[in-house]
Amino acid sequence: MNRTNRDEIVDVAVVGAGFAGLSAAHELVAAGLDVVLLEARDRVGGRVESRVNTLGERIDTGGQYFCDDMREVTALARRFGKTILETPVDGDLAVVPPDPVTDPNDLFGVPIRRRMKALDPADPAIAGLTVAEWLARQPETEAVRTAFRSSMEGLWCLPIEEVPLWYLVSNDRRITNRHWELQHFLGETLHSLADDLAAGLGGRIRLSAPVSWIERRAGGVVLSTPGGAVRAREVVVAVPPATAARIAFRPALPPRLAAALGAWCSGAVLKIVVRYAAPFWRDRGLSGMATWRGMPGLYACDASPDAGRATLVVFAGGALARAWHGLPAEGLRRVVTGHLVEALGPEAARPLDFACRDWTEDEWSGGAYSDLIIDMGAVDAEDVIRAGVPPIRFAASELSPSYPGYVEGALVAGRAAARALIAGQSASATSASGS
Ligand SMILES: Cc1cc2nc3c(=O)[nH]c(=O)nc-3n(C[C@H](O)[C@H](O)[C@H](O)COP(=O)(O)OP(=O)(O)OC[C@H]3O[C@@H](n4cnc5c(N)ncnc54)[C@H](O)[C@@H]3O)c2cc1C
Repeated sequence: MNRTNRDEIVDVAVVGAGFAGLSAAHELVAAGLDVVLLEARDRVGGRVESRVNTLGERIDTGGQYFCDDMREVTALARRFGKTILETPVDGDLAVVPPDPVTDPNDLFGVPIRRRMKALDPADPAIAGLTVAEWLARQPETEAVRTAFRSSMEGLWCLPIEEVPLWYLVSNDRRITNRHWELQHFLGETLHSLADDLAAGLGGRIRLSAPVSWIERRAGGVVLSTPGGAVRAREVVVAVPPATAARIAFRPALPPRLAAALGAWCSGAVLKIVVRYAAPFWRDRGLSGMATWRGMPGLYACDASPDAGRATLVVFAGGALARAWHGLPAEGLRRVVTGHLVEALGPEAARPLDFACRDWTEDEWSGGAYSDLIIDMGAVDAEDVIRAGVPPIRFAASELSPSYPGYVEGALVAGRAAARALIAGQSASATSASGS
């Protein structure tokens, strides 16, 4: 897959072979441009990755789920002939400690989230408020407000004291799915879709090629990788914003753009895939979905491809991920299976396989599902980054007009950056021929 010619000048270098970079590269190649894709890791997929567990089964250890509203992912899965599975949902949600009284919506703070989504991010009445400050003013009971906090911090993996309300509103309003976001997963893994996209790019991908600096020169850019410099006329930096901020740009980026990249922060998440001999929770009328009051950021659901491969996925986000980060493997296994025992029954103590992927402090993606803006004043940060400073442009799921923070958003954002680049080239070709 790796190219060897170090002296080439390509039309476009794409930095990062996550779904945004892969999507951008496909669009650029389809437009007839010569493209090289530079990826820091030794694999493609970015925050979507897989590994083989001790039972010899390939499992998604990063992004996995999508739903029918996410048209780009669904179309790709169909195009590559994947097995689209339904997440099993029959049975009851397990709540620890049990709570037969509370409306399940209240358990996730849904009424408050609906009210938040209905806000206008530009409303002067919410300017300067953090999510935590706004939450304190809501009329719900303390228990429902705590549930809202828990669900927000589980999803966005940062304390809501750090998150500007306008940003969370703007982000949440772009997540418009009517179906449950964990509706589907792929029998072959979502990661296999990244491999399929990469295969379509042939020899244009260089793995283990982290870009440490990008220099603007007359006629294009030079990118530094351990294997040597790469010269390109234009570049699409398809990495998460906080990770992009760590690349050195020469000369320095305009202050507005540098500040926009510096406005982001990533939280922390652990994803744990636990295999059992049988889906024992179903015998108790449970769906396998579980939530723990008093354990913000902890959530489990059934991810069994079939009854013969009983699987639970456990997510631990935010402060919990930080607390569990660094626990020895056996200690973590004991803690997590202990919580599953409380929720689903004693059989949970005896998994066949326990696979944890600790994304906390991941070198190439920050550590959570998605970066968030934490700078209260950075209201135009996304627009500024999307505009870039041609020949340098940016793409990442976080910058997507739809489903930011999801694989769907990455596909949309990558294509959008590529189209802006292509449009820019056509415009300069027209003005050159005119003059
Ligand atoms: C545990 C976990 C579970 C998730 N679950 C879901 C889910 O179920 N459904 C869903 O839709 N989304 C999920 N997400 C989010 C989803 O994975 C991301 O939104 C999406 O994959 C982001 O794609 P991207 O291309 O924008 O960024 P990335 O996937 O982060 O890709 C960026 C790429 O750039 C590379 N890179 C970074 N710096 C450099 C550099 N200097 N030089 C070269 N390469 C570099 C990285 O290695 C990476 O491959 C999950 C994420 C995590 C971590």
